[in-house]
Amino acid sequence: MPERVLSAMHRASPNIYEGDLIDLTNTLFPDLKRVARTDGHAAIYISNGHGAWEAALRNMVVEGDTILVLCTGRFAAGWADMAKTMGITVETIDFGMQSDADPEVLRQTLEADKSHKIRAVLTVQTDTATSVLNDIPALRKAIDAADHPALFAVDCIASLGCDRFEMDDWGVDVTVAACQKGLMTPAGISFVFANDKALEASKRTRPGSYLNWHDRFFPELYYQRFCGTAPTQHLFGLREALDMIVHEEGVEAVWARHETIASAYWAAITAWGNGGALMANITEESKRSKAVTTVETGDGEAARLRQWTENNAGVTLGIGLGFGAPGSSEYNRRFRIGHMGHQNIPMVMGVIGSIDAGLKALGISHGDGALEEASKVLAAHTGNAKN
Ligand SMILES: *Cc1c(COP(=O)(O)O)cnc(C)c1O
Repeated sequence: MPERVLSAMHRASPNIYEGDLIDLTNTLFPDLKRVARTDGHAAIYISNGHGAWEAALRNMVVEGDTILVLCTGRFAAGWADMAKTMGITVETIDFGMQSDADPEVLRQTLEADKSHKIRAVLTVQTDTATSVLNDIPALRKAIDAADHPALFAVDCIASLGCDRFEMDDWGVDVTVAACQKGLMTPAGISFVFANDKALEASKRTRPGSYLNWHDRFFPELYYQRFCGTAPTQHLFGLREALDMIVHEEGVEAVWARHETIASAYWAAITAWGNGGALMANITEESKRSKAVTTVETGDGEAARLRQWTENNAGVTLGIGLGFGAPGSSEYNRRFRIGHMGHQNIPMVMGVIGSIDAGLKALGISHGDGALEEASKVLAAHTGNAKN
């Protein structure tokens, strides 16, 4: 979270009916669409990611409909659970905790659905528990190969602004995101993007007035954008974050920076594993997210390490989310490194150095040279330009 974003939010509450706030809000939508790479429609909800999940579901399907959810960890499963509470029939395909969704399995499943009762296929781009990266274009091709009309909805809450994502080019109908991960703004607002196909399909749903896409996408009055008071200070924060992402660094450069940083972490993990039990949860690098990396350790080591880095270095490593109940042995064998959003080389080397010191302090077996290997990767990715 950049200081600049926080500072931009630190202001008195503006007029919510006319003036600066209205002008500023109108600048946000084109930039959000630039980040999601879409010419479709965009809505901002006052909610966390779960609110965006619900908004997408309520505008795509109604009670009694069937959807297909591709699970690759914890998050799509959470979206599926929410759909069940709405009376939607949910078919899931579980690809486990170490794999991405297999497009071939998706194709076969859709081909078997001769009556086209599946209204939507839901998945995540990055699963934040397993740190797997799903191949969204390949999944789209599978839907097309089955000649199936289902909407394709993708959760990019962890990955937007980190992993390359091209909503229109990749044929995604609905994208959900939130502000607090790659978009570097304090938690509290979320985003739904929809194309015309999804908008058309939404006409048979009854989402209620608050979540309804129609007023959000085509407001006659400003307040309809938010169905009430705008999330005023958040909008100023988001404006600053989008300035940094879209207008200063550039979306492509932001993706490249995340790739560099992720690669440095992966080099460090490989070095640690060369002499210890540490390893990345996802084996193939091309299937790893550039937003977060899940690491497996020996028994109990991850839990001890998390405590050490938090208490001694002020570095909070992620819990073993989705791998067993808190405190269980599967959970205590895993930690996650978040590398989404406002991340630079000093932060990466600081985190790698902190983990390295923690491994040494705790007597956890590990290979040497993690900082050296990460440094080589950073050097290789950043070139030798003098300025
Ligand atoms: C964080 C996250 C969510 C949930 O977002 P909240 O803001 O906590 O509701 C959903 N999906 C993914 C992939 C996430 O990373």
